[in-house]
Amino acid sequence: MYDIALLGVLLAAIAIGFGLGFLHATHRKKTVPSSRPPELSREYFVGLNYLLNEQPDEAINTFIQALGVNSETVDTHIALGKLFRTRGEADKAVSIHQNLLARPALSTATNQHIQLELARDFMALGVHDRAQRLLRSLLENAANSPYHQEAKRLLIDLLEREKEWQDALDIAQPLLKQQPGMRHPAAHWLCELALEEIHQSSRALARKHLKKALQLDECCVRASLLIAKLEMENGHYQRAIEYLDRIPRQDIAHIPTLLPALKSAYERNNDLAGFETHLYQLLGQAPYTSVIVALGELIHRRDGVESAIERTGEWLREAPSLGGLDYLVDLYLESQRLSGKTPPDSRLLLLKHHTDALLEDRPRHRCRHCGFTSENLEWQCPSCRRWGTIKPITGIEGE
Ligand SMILES: [Zn+2]
Repeated sequence: MYDIALLGVLLAAIAIGFGLGFLHATHRKKTVPSSRPPELSREYFVGLNYLLNEQPDEAINTFIQALGVNSETVDTHIALGKLFRTRGEADKAVSIHQNLLARPALSTATNQHIQLELARDFMALGVHDRAQRLLRSLLENAANSPYHQEAKRLLIDLLEREKEWQDALDIAQPLLKQQPGMRHPAAHWLCELALEEIHQSSRALARKHLKKALQLDECCVRASLLIAKLEMENGHYQRAIEYLDRIPRQDIAHIPTLLPALKSAYERNNDLAGFETHLYQLLGQAPYTSVIVALGELIHRRDGVESAIERTGEWLREAPSLGGLDYLVDLYLESQRLSGKTPPDSRLLLLKHHTDALLEDRPRHRCRHCGFTSENLEWQCPSCRRWGTIKPITGIEGE
């Protein structure tokens, strides 16, 4: 760890050394023949000595003193600040950037650049209120600056972290038309607002947010799922089913996500035949294990275990999966129990032991962007912070 940090400092030192050498060379250009090597300042060698003695903090302080702040060195100071931040020493980055801001002679653009970096430092330190103040002031005072868009992006990121969904929406609102990519996260912020309203028993407001989410992003699975749940609470099972029915068209990978709600809606509506028809329709769209198992269960309850074995076996021949095999073994064990075979066939028990072991601790969801896996479905990936990228794992080992 220390080696990596030292390497970072060394790189900075080389950059500064080069910068100093270059500055000296520039100053001396008129009087010294170009064949002579540029002269380095005394502070550079003092700093180098600190580095060689493995005193990186003293080395950096010496280099900063040697460098002085002017229009030619300010970028090096900013780069040093960034270096500290990426090394996890955001407090030092803050002092470098604040020190720079105290200089009166900076250009407006440079001043804005430093403010942006300082906001990043405060974010890295978790001092979100100070970062937010800086970014809001940048947005107010730097409307035409090249840093305006970046300040907006950072502020939205910050507001998301603070769960200030309405504020994030207000900031993003002007961007939603020109930047379609923003509509997807904005639809999720509306879902978050809807959940807050549901928590406070304001279901009408929640519904308004969810409808708006679907207007912004017609493929927002989460909004369809939440509206379906609201419809179920009101006893409108058929309408709930209609919203759930949209989900495979919005994102086919979320069929396993909608199944529990779909089952519940049909059961409460006393319509198991309707559920079966719906499951066959889903099976035609994507033969996921969860759909096969749900259909197998329906047939098991209605026609008995032998029919369930026969049909499940047929579907699994077309779409083999570990979860499906595990379910089929369960059905075989049940069949043996019913026929009075005790204990059951040891080969079946061995097979069940293996499928159980393979399915144990298996993640059920994966982020399609960064590969993060989780047991439960999370709408914002905790790793890459993207919205809606975590989906059920399907296929041979999946749902
Ligand atoms: Zn991710």
